[in-house]
Amino acid sequence: MKEPTKILLEEKDIPTRWYNIQADMPNLPKPPLNPASKKPLGPEDLSPIFPMDLIKQEVSTERWIDIPDEVREIYHLWRPTPLYRAHRLEKALDTPAKIYYKYEGVSPAGSHKLNTSVPQVYYNKKAGIKRIATETGAGQWGSALSLACRFFGLDCTVYMVKVSYHQKPYRRSFMELFGANVIPSPSEHTEAGRKILAENPDSLGSLGIAISEAVEDAATREDTNYALGSVLNHVLLHQTVIGLEAKKQLEKVDSYPDVVIGCCGGGSNFAGLSFPFLQDVLSGGRKTRVMAVEPSACPTLTRGKFAYDYGDTAKLTPISMMYTLGHDFVPPGIHAGGLRYHGDAPLVSQLYHDGFIEARAYPQRAVFEAAVTFARSEGIVPAPEAAHAVKAALDEAVACRESGEAKTILFCLSGHGFFDLAAYDAYLAGELEDIEYSPELLEQSLAKLPQVE
Ligand SMILES: *Cc1c(COP(=O)(O)O)cnc(C)c1O
Repeated sequence: MKEPTKILLEEKDIPTRWYNIQADMPNLPKPPLNPASKKPLGPEDLSPIFPMDLIKQEVSTERWIDIPDEVREIYHLWRPTPLYRAHRLEKALDTPAKIYYKYEGVSPAGSHKLNTSVPQVYYNKKAGIKRIATETGAGQWGSALSLACRFFGLDCTVYMVKVSYHQKPYRRSFMELFGANVIPSPSEHTEAGRKILAENPDSLGSLGIAISEAVEDAATREDTNYALGSVLNHVLLHQTVIGLEAKKQLEKVDSYPDVVIGCCGGGSNFAGLSFPFLQDVLSGGRKTRVMAVEPSACPTLTRGKFAYDYGDTAKLTPISMMYTLGHDFVPPGIHAGGLRYHGDAPLVSQLYHDGFIEARAYPQRAVFEAAVTFARSEGIVPAPEAAHAVKAALDEAVACRESGEAKTILFCLSGHGFFDLAAYDAYLAGELEDIEYSPELLEQSLAKLPQVE
C-alpha cells in the first residue's frame, strides 16, 4: 500500500518538552565571554537584555525542559506541522530514495521562527518587560516576533536591514499590521547606527549592524529587552519541537532517516530538525548523517574559522566560540537574506567541529533551480533560505538514482516564499547572478577576530 502523502499528528501530540542537546554532547562549547573584559560571561552580564528564565535555559544541561502551557496553547494555532512524503518529487527525479519534508511554512508567520518567538515573549512578559527590540534581515524574524508580541500584549521595535526594508515592503507591512515599529537599519536612533552612517551614508546595512542597534536600544532602556531569532542555545532548544514531531511522524510510517538536512543561517531550523535525531547518534549509536546547507556567498561552516568572535559589528554582544567569517564581514546581497549571517550557533559549530555534522555550500542559481523543480512537483514555493535544503535533498536523491541505493532523506522546509516572488521573478527572467564572496575581504575580516587567551 502506498504511504500517505501527509503524515499528520493530533494536537495532543505537540511535544510537552523541548530537547536540550547540551545533556548529550561529548564536548560543550567553550563559554561565551564578556565583550569588554573578555572574561567568561555571568548571568549578570545578560540580565540587562534577557529575562532570567531564558538565561537559565541558555546554560542548562537538563536533557528535557518543560514547555509552558501558555506557549503550547499558542503552538496549537499551527502545530503539529505536517510531514510530507514527497511522492511526486521522487517520481519526477526517478529516484529510489524516499524523500520526506517537515513543512514549517504553515505557521501564521510563514516560517519556523514563531516556534521560538512565542516562548521568548512569554518569558519576557512573565519577567515584567513591556517592550522588545530586535533586528530582522529578510523579515521573517521580525514578522514572527511582531506576532508573538501582539499575542502577549508587548510593544515591538524591529531594526530591519535597509536593503531588505526596500526589497521587501510587504514584510514591513506584515510587521506593522501586528503593531510593530519598523526602522530601517543603519538608523539615526542609536549610537551604533549613527557611527555607521557617518562612515558610509549609503550603507545597505547587515544583520551584524542591525543587531548592534537592537542590543543598544534594549540595553539603554529599563522596560525593554532584546530577542534574537537564531544562534543562541535557548533558540535552538525551542526549535526542537520540529524534530521531535518529525520523529513521531516517521515512526507512524515505520521509517527513520539515513540523512537529515537543514539550511543553515544561524542554525536554528537545522538544529530544530536534526538535534532530536542527533540524540540517537550521540547516545544510541545510530549512523544517521546530518547535513547543514549554506550559501556559497556566505560560507560560514565550509570556509569560516572556528574561533572566538563577536555576534555583531559594533562588538556589543558576547564573544562566542563559533564558526565565523569575521564580525564585520558583509556578505553579498543574495536573496536568501536569512542566511547572510557571519557566524553560526555555538552548539552547531561545536558539533560540526567534532565531526557529527556535515556541511555543504551552494550558489544561488542552483538553489533556485532546485526550488522551482520542487515547487512544480509539490506545489509549495520554498523560501529562498529553505531552498538550500531542497537543493541538498535533490542532490542526495539524484545520487541514489545513480547508485541504486534507496536512502531515506528528511529535510526541513523552514518557510514559504510568498514574500520572495521578486527573487523568483529574477530567476525566471534569467537575471539572477551567482555572486561570490570576496576572498580578500574574508581574509581581512578574519584578521580582525578578537584576541583571546
Ligand atoms: C531565518 C530563516 C532561516 C535561517 O535561520 P536559521 O536560524 O539558520 O534557521 C531559514 N529559513 C527560513 C524560512 C528563515 O526564516
